[in-house]
Amino acid sequence: MKYSQDKIKRITTISMFTILVVSIGLLLFLLSYSSNRLQTTAEQTVNESIISHQATLNDEFKTISNYVLSLANSVSEYQVDSSKIHYFLQDQNEIFHFENIYFIDIDETVISATAVEASLPNDFSIKTANSTDSTLVTISEPYTSEVSGAQLLGLHVPIIYNGRMIGAVYAEYSLAPILDRLNTTVYADGFAFIATNSGTPLASTSADATPDYSLSHEAFKSITYTDNAVYRMVTHAPLDINNWNLVLDVNEYQLTQDIRTLSTVLIIFVMGLFAGFWFFLLHLWRGRKRLENAAYYDELTGLPNLTKLKLDMVDVLNHHPNKKYVTVKMDISNFKAINEIFGFSVGDKVLQAFYQTAAIVPEKSFILARVGDDEFIMFAGNNFLEQLDAITDHYESYLKKLVPELENHYLTFNYGRYFIEPGETDVNQIITKTSIAHHTAKGSHSGGIWDYDAKYKEQLLYLAELTNKMDSALDHGEFVPYLQPKFRLNDNALIGAEALVRWIQRDGSMIYPNDFIPLFESNGFILKLDKYILEYICQTLRCWMDAGYNCVPVSVNFSRVHFINPTFVDEILRIVDRYEISHDLIDIEVTETTILDKEEAMATHLVNLRDSGFSVSIDDFGSGYSSLGMLKDFQVDTLKLDRSFFVSETQSEHVDRVVDGVIKLGHSINMNVVAEGVESQEQVEFLKDMDCECAQGYFFAKPMPIAEFNRRYIEQK
Ligand code: C2E
Ligand code: CA
Ligand code: CA
Repeated sequence: MKYSQDKIKRITTISMFTILVVSIGLLLFLLSYSSNRLQTTAEQTVNESIISHQATLNDEFKTISNYVLSLANSVSEYQVDSSKIHYFLQDQNEIFHFENIYFIDIDETVISATAVEASLPNDFSIKTANSTDSTLVTISEPYTSEVSGAQLLGLHVPIIYNGRMIGAVYAEYSLAPILDRLNTTVYADGFAFIATNSGTPLASTSADATPDYSLSHEAFKSITYTDNAVYRMVTHAPLDINNWNLVLDVNEYQLTQDIRTLSTVLIIFVMGLFAGFWFFLLHLWRGRKRLENAAYYDELTGLPNLTKLKLDMVDVLNHHPNKKYVTVKMDISNFKAINEIFGFSVGDKVLQAFYQTAAIVPEKSFILARVGDDEFIMFAGNNFLEQLDAITDHYESYLKKLVPELENHYLTFNYGRYFIEPGETDVNQIITKTSIAHHTAKGSHSGGIWDYDAKYKEQLLYLAELTNKMDSALDHGEFVPYLQPKFRLNDNALIGAEALVRWIQRDGSMIYPNDFIPLFESNGFILKLDKYILEYICQTLRCWMDAGYNCVPVSVNFSRVHFINPTFVDEILRIVDRYEISHDLIDIEVTETTILDKEEAMATHLVNLRDSGFSVSIDDFGSGYSSLGMLKDFQVDTLKLDRSFFVSETQSEHVDRVVDGVIKLGHSINMNVVAEGVESQEQVEFLKDMDCECAQGYFFAKPMPIAEFNRRYIEQK
């Protein structure tokens, strides 16, 4: 249990943060990596491309040069027979697809494949071309044909005869097929061109491209430039002829389109992965939070529950062992009645008002937890006690505002308090002691603050012992009803008896009902016990009747707990009828508070009881909620005036008037009035004066065993 909530929170936050940082870092790395990759990939592609184009062009130039060389070789065999040369050239041209082939003799007489006599191509001059090297092919710069407008290259080779140049072969080669081939292999939006060493373009695959750069950078190395915000790459490679260069100019973006798409997909994928991971973590975290909430917090109020309270208390007590702390457990008397009379929504509001009020406590270490229906535990530093009164006052006024239904309702609070010993950290012990103090406050019925006292613990232990023993006690017949007679005042005639349970243990010691009835009411055992007593009484009446005695009605006490049982009346009928007891011999006593508690169920049950022929008495009338008005709604047979009216030695005039009023009221709605706890002759006289017809009390007789009652009253009749 000794782990700290704060620590868990801290660890969670740190790990979440770490994951965030790592994922951002990874993303950045991916981005930079992919941009580097893009760059090198683009360079590689362009490089490979230019190498292959360079080879193609060199091959092409070599091939056509070789053609021209072989042509020149052949022409030299025809000497200067012009018509033979013409036809030869014509044939060759058909094979080699030159634009045109010329033979020029040293006098600049020109024979071409197309005509026997022709003019000089491209201002060719035999004088400047003069050479004795018959293997030398000279290639001109590209020029435009005056005949076809095509871009042409001129290739010429000297013809040597006897060591002298006698003429030359000049072949015009169209650049279009080469450029076309280049064009189709250059990437979209890219172009290639042949340029001089200084970058002057000679022939280009694209007519509109006007490249504007010197080729000062190293061959096969790309440089980048921007053209209208488009990144372009330029690379060049030397060609084998004339110090020319092949230049490639491509759109870098389009070049890397595929890999860019790929890396975008990759990045999106990775980001998606991380987002998914995050959501998963968040989901886990929320789930944990929900679980934690369910495990640690009360649903209605959102306050910590008992488990959470203990955890938090351990934390505080371990961190500040030298500070003084106090725990206070409280509940609202009659909360159950409020719930039942005004409904759960009002009950909820009452609770709400409490925790909202308590929230005003400024104390830092203050913890408020809901530990039961209407039970709260507060834990705080000692100085909090000064605020407790303020909380109570504020609560009451706030409550009346929030729940106007309670305007005329008197609420009491039971506070049990325990001052935690310095160094005491066993929270279970602390809570137990606080609960014991609270239990005492509740038992006092007067509310207020009660402090823990070690002796209360004994009481609780005692109750626990009773709880352990009750079932077997019932089986062993340890619960026995005593009977106390009731008398008519004007002639002292016996008019009935009340059954009052006693727990006579096997060792002969007797436990009185006040010691166990509240316990049995809280643990539900009373439901069994009351029916058991009723059955006992029925059995007794049966015996008396069978023996031919005259019977008197016997009152049996029924706890309020029965009224939530919808088959209550049926169960009573079953018992009474099993012994064939006339219903008018059974009187059901219910306490006055019972009536307020479960109004509707109560009303139906009372009506059913009376319809079945039982009489009904209201017990302890005047002790609790003195709501005389309700008597109109609950038709009963007898009012039992509470013993407390006659307790004080010298009865006050005020009490006399109240008793007088109650008796008159009872009579006015046709009820019998029985005075309980009558102990003296004066009381008897007083009651007679007040027209009270019946009484019960020690003055006449104490409750006694049935056998004794039988002997004293029944057999006599
Ligand atoms: P109650 O129903 O008001 O019963 C009257 C109580 O007053 C009895 O206490 C009785 O012994 C006592 N009493 C009678 N005359 C006098 C008197 O002149 N002076 C004084 N000081 N006391 C007098 P008891 O028998 O101890 O019963 C206590 C309460 O326990 C009862 O109060 C009743 O509420 C409850 N109880 C007793 N038996 C049963 C039972 O079988 N079922 C239920 N549900 N409750 C029972
Ligand atoms: Ca009674
Ligand atoms: Ca009573």
